[in-house]
Amino acid sequence: MKPEFSVVIPAYNEQEVIEESYKRLSAVMTRINESYELIFIDDGSRDKTAQILARICEADKNVKLLRFSRNFGHMPAITAGMDYALGGAVLVIDADLQDPPELFPQMIEKWREGYDVVYGKRSERKGETVFKKLTAGLYYRFLRRMTDVDLPVDTGEFRLIDRKVCDVIKGIKEKNRYIRGLVSWVGFKQTAVDYVRAERFAGETKYPLTKMIKLAMNGITSFSYKPLKLAAHLGFGISALSFMYLLIVLYQRLFTSSTTVGWASMVAIVLFSQGIVLMVLGLMGEYIGRIFEEIKDRPIYIIDEIINGDQGAESGK
Ligand code: UDP
Ligand code: MG
Repeated sequence: MKPEFSVVIPAYNEQEVIEESYKRLSAVMTRINESYELIFIDDGSRDKTAQILARICEADKNVKLLRFSRNFGHMPAITAGMDYALGGAVLVIDADLQDPPELFPQMIEKWREGYDVVYGKRSERKGETVFKKLTAGLYYRFLRRMTDVDLPVDTGEFRLIDRKVCDVIKGIKEKNRYIRGLVSWVGFKQTAVDYVRAERFAGETKYPLTKMIKLAMNGITSFSYKPLKLAAHLGFGISALSFMYLLIVLYQRLFTSSTTVGWASMVAIVLFSQGIVLMVLGLMGEYIGRIFEEIKDRPIYIIDEIINGDQGAESGK
């Protein structure tokens, strides 16, 4: 029997919170009084997350567990959850209770009104460093300008998606997925509900700066060619400036006698243009790397074990 709602919860080293998340999620879902499934994805945790979830699965048959063979990342974990979800609506939420499950009834209400995607919009973030708030705020706005997709600012993965949207996204086999971008890109009727992003219930962030930068780069490069255009513009700009400088140099050489003073400016120009060339090469590399990832066509995730799951769900490809 297909449940009415599927809740997808990615978890990586969340042993301090996972029990509590389960309790709060199942309390909320029970109150909604419809059939549901909680799909936890253990993203290769090295702590007791998987054991705790396996125990919960034994006691509660509404809970399913997908265990990855290693750590694949937040986006692959959500992808797996969406691939295996059977519900008429899929709710995605982090395991750390920063996004309140108590918002689900409100999201479901909007869904019943006919919206296909209901995303949580953070009106405030609590307990996060000034650095994270600032970079996140800037990033979402920068991303909006860089891409042609209408990405809502200040939203994460906390949202409800209708079955048909979920199916469409399942059909998109991009490897380096930026799910919140894809969800906007597919269109459909979308709306937001505001909420205050709480502090982590326990444990610490699994998004160190390096992962954040990777996600940020993914967001930009999977939805925009503008950085490549920027490279071209930069090239034109620099060439134009260089040409003007060349005229000055020629003038000095031909009509004045002060041509020996060139060394410092030469060095400056060489260093500067080298820097630009390297930067642009790196940018090209980003895109080539993405092509390389796609062409290899490896699965997005690998599942080691499924507990309480139904057979017949798709693989990670
Ligand atoms: N997560 C994951 N795999 C990872 C990193 C994170 O499944 O490699 C999960 C994590 O368990 C959490 C969610 O993704 O449920 C968001 O991570 P986190 O709360 O650490 O990010 P933040 O809220 O600090 O941006
Ligand atoms: Mg978090």
